[in-house]
Amino acid sequence: MATRYWLKKTLGTSYPADPSDVLNTKRRLQSQGYYDEPEYGITEYPDTPMFEGIKRFQKDNGLRVDGLMRPKGPTETQLAARSPRYTCSRCGALHGGVFSPSLCHRCWVK
Ligand SMILES: [Zn+2]
Repeated sequence: MATRYWLKKTLGTSYPADPSDVLNTKRRLQSQGYYDEPEYGITEYPDTPMFEGIKRFQKDNGLRVDGLMRPKGPTETQLAARSPRYTCSRCGALHGGVFSPSLCHRCWVK
């Protein structure tokens, strides 16, 4: 399967973020259990949970922990590779199969 990249620009605290990059990145991180949707929802604005999620993902995957994602860089490549979609058998959510192929991370931790 071809790697599906989505970043148009570099995503990092000191870079102007592309709104669709932010949305796509949050959804990808969420599907892998690296982003918990805040009370204000998933927005197109970069937020702390997103950068924390990027860092946790980098740490877990032996990548440099800088909270930075470059188009087709190592972090995006790893995250794209980790996005095979599984359907949760309990709630029907699409997820990345990090904890279990049959359960999403929310149902897994319950
Ligand atoms: Zn579920």
